[in-house]
Amino acid sequence: MSKSKDQSNNEFSLINRYFKKLTAQQDVVVGIGDDAAILKPTEGHQLALATDSLVASVHFPNEANAYQVATRSLCVNLSDMAAMGATPKWFTLALTLPKPLATTDWLQDFSQGLAEVAKQYNVALVGGDTTAGPLTISITVAGELPAGEALCRGGAQADDSIYVSGTLGDGAASLLALTQNSEMISERLLQRFYSPQPQIALGVCLRDFATACIDISDGLVADLGHICKASGLGAAIKSDLLPIHSELKDNHRNQVLEWALTGGDDYQLCFTIPESKQAAFEAWVQQANIPVTKIGNMTQLQHNQDAVLLDDQALSANFGGYTHFK
Ligand code: ADP
Ligand code: MG
Repeated sequence: MSKSKDQSNNEFSLINRYFKKLTAQQDVVVGIGDDAAILKPTEGHQLALATDSLVASVHFPNEANAYQVATRSLCVNLSDMAAMGATPKWFTLALTLPKPLATTDWLQDFSQGLAEVAKQYNVALVGGDTTAGPLTISITVAGELPAGEALCRGGAQADDSIYVSGTLGDGAASLLALTQNSEMISERLLQRFYSPQPQIALGVCLRDFATACIDISDGLVADLGHICKASGLGAAIKSDLLPIHSELKDNHRNQVLEWALTGGDDYQLCFTIPESKQAAFEAWVQQANIPVTKIGNMTQLQHNQDAVLLDDQALSANFGGYTHFK
C-alpha cells in the first residue's frame, strides 16, 4: 500500500530532523536519504552483522524515557559485536513508534541518547525504517574484523580457563528494581540497565587470546552452555569466584547467586583462554584497566553429564536441574 503524501512528508522531516545528523562518518559512501546505504569496508576485513529488537514492556519497562530506550537499544546491539571481537562501524534503525510519541520531545531525547552512544563507540547510523505502531526498536549493527579472526562459540579446548568481564547479576537486579521493587534502585543499577557498556575494547583484544567468546544476555549458565555445546565440552565453575558487586552482595545475599547464574541482561563477556596465553592476557587487561575474573575451566564432557557444573554439582543449561532455585 502506498503512503499518503502527507504521511511521507512527516516521516521524511522526522528522519531529517532527528536521524540524519548521526550519519556522517568515514567509510559511509551513501548514508541516510537514498534507497540503501553504501559502505566501504576495510580491505582484508570481514563483516560481522547482528540484529536485536527491543519491545516496550518486554525488553524495557513502559515507563522508560526516550533517552534510556535509545541508549539501552544501541548498547545491547553493540554487545554482540564485542562478543565476536568485531569493531562496530555502522548501524540501521527500524523504529516503530506510537503516533503520540512522534509529536513530542520524545524523538529529540531518543536521538540524543542514540547520538551519545554512537559517538562513544564511533558508529554511524546509515539508514533505517520508520513506522507507526507499538514502540519497538530494531537495530542492525555491522562491524569489521580482520579476515578469519572472529571469536566464535565453538573454539574452546578442554582445560582452557573460563573468564567473565565486569560483574554479574546486575542485569537481573536492575530489572527487579525497575519493575517490582523500587526501593532497590540505585544510580549504578540504572546505568547497568539502560547503558550496559558493550565490551568492545576487550572483544578486540580477545582476538589474540581467546578460543571462544559470548556475551551474557540470557544468564551465565545458559550462555556458557552455548560455548559448551558449540565446543563439545563441559564447564566447571565455582560460585565463590563469581564477580558480584558489593551493592548486591551486601543487600541481597540470598538472591545474588541466582541472579549471577541465570538472571541475564548483564552484557558482559564470557570467554575461554588457554593456559599458555593467560599471563599475557592478564597483563593486557591490567594495563587497560578492564576488570575480568577467572571463574573456572572447560572440561571433557562425560556421558550424560550436564554441560555446566557449579561447585562440582550438576546444573542444567536451562536450569531445570538446579534444585536450589526451584
Ligand atoms: P524507502 O521507502 O525507500 O525504504 P524510507 O522512506 O523508508 O525509504 O526511508 C528514507 C531514508 O531514510 C532511507 O535512506 C532510510 O534508510 C532512512 N531512514 C528511514 N527511517 C530511518 C530511521 N529510523 N533511522 C535512520 N534512517 C532512517
Ligand atoms: Mg523503507
